[in-house]
Amino acid sequence: MKRNFIAIVLLLTLLFSKVNFADSGLLFNVNASGDPTEVSITLCLNAKGPLSCQNYFVSATNLTILTTPSDHTYHYAGIKVNSPFYSIANAGISCTPLSNGFCMFTVSDTQPAAISIKNPDYIVVGVGTAGAVITKKLSDGNQNMVVALHNGPDLNNDPLINLSKNAIITVLSGLIGPPLYNISETIPQIFINDRILNWIYAIPLGGASSVNAGAWCRGTNQVYSQWEALLGPNWSTTAIENTYIELENYHGETTNPSARGFNGPLPIRQEPNPTITTVSRKISQAITNATGFSLVLDYNDPNTPIGPSTQVQYTQMGPDGALRASSAIVFLNKDVMDANGNGVNGRKLHVVFNATADKVIWNGNKAIGVQYYRNGSPHLLYASKGIIVSAGIKSSSFLMRSGVGSASLLQSLNIPVVYDNPNVGSGLADQPHIVMIYTSNPDDTPSSFRLKIAGKILSALSDTTLGRALITAIGTNVNVQNGLFTQIAWLPTPGGDPTIRTLRFASVTPIPGITIVLFDLVQPLSRGSIAINSTDPFAEPTFDLGVLSNVDDLDLYISGFQNYIQNINNQLQVIDPSYQMIFPDPIILNDLTVLTDFIKEEIGTNMHFQSHCRMAPLNQGGVVDDTGHVYGVQNLIVADDSVVPINMDGSPMATAYLVAANIAKHL
Ligand SMILES: Cc1cc2nc3c(=O)[nH]c(=O)nc-3n(C[C@H](O)[C@H](O)[C@H](O)COP(=O)(O)OP(=O)(O)OC[C@H]3O[C@@H](n4cnc5c(N)ncnc54)[C@H](O)[C@@H]3O)c2cc1C
Repeated sequence: MKRNFIAIVLLLTLLFSKVNFADSGLLFNVNASGDPTEVSITLCLNAKGPLSCQNYFVSATNLTILTTPSDHTYHYAGIKVNSPFYSIANAGISCTPLSNGFCMFTVSDTQPAAISIKNPDYIVVGVGTAGAVITKKLSDGNQNMVVALHNGPDLNNDPLINLSKNAIITVLSGLIGPPLYNISETIPQIFINDRILNWIYAIPLGGASSVNAGAWCRGTNQVYSQWEALLGPNWSTTAIENTYIELENYHGETTNPSARGFNGPLPIRQEPNPTITTVSRKISQAITNATGFSLVLDYNDPNTPIGPSTQVQYTQMGPDGALRASSAIVFLNKDVMDANGNGVNGRKLHVVFNATADKVIWNGNKAIGVQYYRNGSPHLLYASKGIIVSAGIKSSSFLMRSGVGSASLLQSLNIPVVYDNPNVGSGLADQPHIVMIYTSNPDDTPSSFRLKIAGKILSALSDTTLGRALITAIGTNVNVQNGLFTQIAWLPTPGGDPTIRTLRFASVTPIPGITIVLFDLVQPLSRGSIAINSTDPFAEPTFDLGVLSNVDDLDLYISGFQNYIQNINNQLQVIDPSYQMIFPDPIILNDLTVLTDFIKEEIGTNMHFQSHCRMAPLNQGGVVDDTGHVYGVQNLIVADDSVVPINMDGSPMATAYLVAANIAKHL
């Protein structure tokens, strides 16, 4: 009797338990075919309870489900998908959705139920400047399920990031590395005395747009007409201008309103005339006097690309531009997703933070998913429509780890070659700069050593609550405008075509009496390369910037110093003798050997990386076509600054937005 009782209890437990029976005593027979997936489901004999439930893992999307108990039809059987990002494809048709998350169907041991799992539609790799735009656009309309993997945190609400005045701190934090940046080193740069340079990328959601200076500088039609010639109508000067107009919500003056956008999502603020500082006016006047190029009201007007401007434009919003308008803040705000990265208002979106994408999962040469790491564990994620890579400087490494790249390199690392394309990682371009210091009081000039000490102190403080509050207070009280730059000037090669931008002279005045000038090459000819040296997604690639590998770049710098810098300095002295260039000592400008040494010792990277996954015909160095699709494979798209086909002559943030918005139109 007692034995019978125990048997009945055991039987009842078996029938009505919610315990996982996956190893033995299966209640269901599940056959999976179709597209690969990796999903945990719960099946119940009675979904209303739910009762008699077991968990199963399925590895393909089309499920044929039978029960194992014979001679009984279960009218209330049910299925629930446990893995995030996946759903029942034919809910409402093959099964009836219940409020408890199950979808109910009829099944027996002879009458199967056919139910399909729906993979996400798109995976976005890297939610930086371009990635945030793509993520938002793909999930607009609530049709596509988009899962975006980002290898950093969401710091949108941190005042260090979202107050424009703190740009001076977030930019300088590039000298430090974490928590805002990942920092690495180039290989010795053979054309600049084997110097090793640091290179960085921004970790927070929104990528570089969350930490940069926010200067909004489109390229010019001189460059975009070359994009059009190379790529056709998708990248015509008209298509590009229209994309910018659609993006911009411009708050400023312009000589050409028809070329600017006033209703787009991205707020662009121009420093208004009344707040222009005297430093800005004097430097700009000196540039005009020295070069002959007049003051420009709106350097983003395609008709006025050359000359100095006192009114720099920024991605900023709020009163006086107090708030940074990063791509994450603008495109992934609370109307789009919640603090956990889940879409709101019916948007089928999940942004997964601190998730590092490793490589593509392939079905033949079709990209069907991504392997990624989170909390030290690998995960597989599948997508039916495509994988969009917006990992910025890491996009070429991701392609290589996935088997798209130089076959010999991939084979040396035992990576199966999916498509042999040596162009991946080649053609790396930058807009190098040289830092100069102007001051009325040389004793106040910070040396690079002092800057390093300041960086170390900031770094030590950044781990403490008090320290972070202090940093924020410094940032909000330091003597900078919401816009970091004092002025900006776009200049052609001295004696060259006066319509082509090749040099930029931009300044920052963080402390009264000290102005730091960044003198940049905007269309250098030197090229570098990126190559992975490991299959580890956390290992940094071999990074060769090829600085000054093209001697024309050195010649341009020499000419720029001997003509513009020399004359600007002279003109500054005329306007106000307290303005002096003190680093370098102006005396070196007349000595070719010393000037050349100075350039080689001081040239650095602007972190304006581009073109290592070029958008161009395959036989002209291309990695992706004019819609961003990677050559030789299917369903894999790259959309960020890595695809820039021909050096931008603006600055890279505006280009990242352009590339993302334009490629999104063709997905
Ligand atoms: C300090 C600084 C100041 C700058 N100032 C300006 C400026 O004032 N104006 C201007 O125009 N440009 C500026 N730039 C440059 C410009 O901001 C960037 O070049 C541009 O925004 C890059 O956009 P992107 O979308 O290509 O890449 P990013 O914005 O870098 O986005 C790529 C993101 O992908 C993530 N990622 C990488 N690998 C993976 C992976 N495996 N898995 C998941 N996620 C991954 C990264 O964390 C990164 O955040 C500045 C850059 C720096 C560093």
